[in-house]
Amino acid sequence: MKQSIYHTEDARWQAVETRDANADEQFVFGVITTGIFCRPSCRARHPLRQNVRFYQSADAAQAAGFRPCKRCQPDKAPLHQQRVERIRKACAVLDASEQSLTLDALAQEMAISPYHFHRLFKSVTGMTPKAWQTARRNQRLRDALTHGEAVTPALYQAGFGSGSSFYRDADAALGMTAKQFRSGGKQLSLRYAMVDCHVGRCLVAQSPRGICAVLLGDDDAELEAQLAGLFPLAKRRLAQDDFSDILEKVVACIRAPDTRLDLPLDFQGTLFQQQVWEALRAIPSGETISYQALAAKVGKPNAVRAVASACGANRLAIIVPCHRVLRRDGQLSGYRWGVARKAALLQHEAKKET
Ligand SMILES: [Zn+2]
Repeated sequence: MKQSIYHTEDARWQAVETRDANADEQFVFGVITTGIFCRPSCRARHPLRQNVRFYQSADAAQAAGFRPCKRCQPDKAPLHQQRVERIRKACAVLDASEQSLTLDALAQEMAISPYHFHRLFKSVTGMTPKAWQTARRNQRLRDALTHGEAVTPALYQAGFGSGSSFYRDADAALGMTAKQFRSGGKQLSLRYAMVDCHVGRCLVAQSPRGICAVLLGDDDAELEAQLAGLFPLAKRRLAQDDFSDILEKVVACIRAPDTRLDLPLDFQGTLFQQQVWEALRAIPSGETISYQALAAKVGKPNAVRAVASACGANRLAIIVPCHRVLRRDGQLSGYRWGVARKAALLQHEAKKET
């Protein structure tokens, strides 16, 4: 599809002039006066148009007698792959480190400017390096508490600093106090309400930390049962009028899925699940993605199954648009809230685009 854009010599030259990175895997160009060939996005100074020859691939340019540019390395793996590889390494460094690392230190380790590193990290993982470290630290805390460790040592071990923010950070990380977490969320209180939307009934629940569930169903009893299944130990209270503002915001977001919900969200999931959900939130309305592509997006191209189950574990219907994930052959495959509903959501979004 992309190829057709760079079909003509003029289009290719324009891509070179604008250093269009999208053109990078589509063709290379050789400069007859220097004998060197480059990727379209090469940062080196541009040659004169008359000295440029275009080639389909690095191999073709080399066969024609050109040498690869040292700067853009057009004979190496595609740029994107190199980047993903780098970020994967950075993630490993982050995961292995007990203390939190600064962006500068990490960037230096990866031999890349802090600015670029930040952007690259975000584009590959869907999270900032800081969010990644926080999520990892939070997971260590949850793991320790789940295994029955006492609260204070668990906090220290997970890398929470000491000081006044100590318990506050921990509460924010867990969405409840560490003590509540250890007791299985028994004292967590949720308020919720039901409302009509274009794909049936919808239940919205909020914890003290943010919106923690958006569920779809046919009737209220079924929705309440879904909520009870997700938060069996929490106190669940049907909200009164004071919830209508929140409900309205969520429904507006369901109706016009391009509106980003400006309410705090309470994601309760593993680091990996949170990564997948963040990546899902980056898929615009009207577009879809395959499980394979989503797995590649979170830097784990082989973890297709784990990605599919993270999609299945989503508790925030539509807000985290897991309905935009399709099988590679375009089949709808499963949906937590029914395939018919998935089809209706996608149809609604496709219409919006035209
Ligand atoms: Zn070059």
